[in-house]
Amino acid sequence: MMISGVAHALSLDVPQRVTQGGMITGFVTPPTANVTLNDTPLHVGRDGRILFGVARDEQGPLRLTVTLTAKTLTKSLAVAPRAWSIQTIAGLPKKFVTPNPQQQARIKADQAKIKTTRTAPITNDFLATDGFIKPAAGPISGIFGSQRILNGIPKAPHYGLDIAGPVGTPVVAPAAGVVALVDPDMFLTGKTVMMDHGAGVYSVFIHLHDISVQQGDTLQAGSPLGTIGATGRVSGPHLHWGVTVAGVQVDPARVLGRTEYGGPKTDGQ
Ligand SMILES: [Zn+2]
Repeated sequence: MMISGVAHALSLDVPQRVTQGGMITGFVTPPTANVTLNDTPLHVGRDGRILFGVARDEQGPLRLTVTLTAKTLTKSLAVAPRAWSIQTIAGLPKKFVTPNPQQQARIKADQAKIKTTRTAPITNDFLATDGFIKPAAGPISGIFGSQRILNGIPKAPHYGLDIAGPVGTPVVAPAAGVVALVDPDMFLTGKTVMMDHGAGVYSVFIHLHDISVQQGDTLQAGSPLGTIGATGRVSGPHLHWGVTVAGVQVDPARVLGRTEYGGPKTDGQ
């Protein structure tokens, strides 16, 4: 008699402890299984890869559930907290800190467009398996997670990595992907580009001066996409690079720090 339990065994390789702001890789066997993170379905790649983000304020534990027909496997992931800094920025034009109703409506429409782009994937295959590179040369002028105080008013935390540089400094794709959105004039983010790296991973590049790509273009890591600018809500020229995984904002500095994507032992911090 065959022991069918071996062929049908469910397995999930994932770090047991993750960190706020992290982009986490796991692998599930078989890849036909369904996976949910707290009740949200995750994309499962043909190689069994799952990717998810740990939110800035996530307290954990996170609950990953793998199901295949009648079988279920659940893992609980502890979340390590981080300390967040405070960044004070003064001298911003008033309309960017206390927008009037008309400007608020524009901000809302821009945000809806970005959200829609993230929920309508161009590709389900994870294209960034070679990892991520810094999308522009220059010093880091803003980090992920900082509590923002703009013109003395506490605002939402900062969900990206800021790289300062003169207007016209080249901006390149940090990893392979498809251009998912090009917008020449968003209220807060100015000239804006989004890339779909597959498997629910997106980059956004904002405050650009020039955009040299079109929606649908396929880019490799290092492909030019535009230049650093000072469009939208800025106190000086810089690139803001944001990364979301399955709708969760993660720390681009941690995405950059990763060197290994290929195997089940990837820690994914
Ligand atoms: Zn920023």
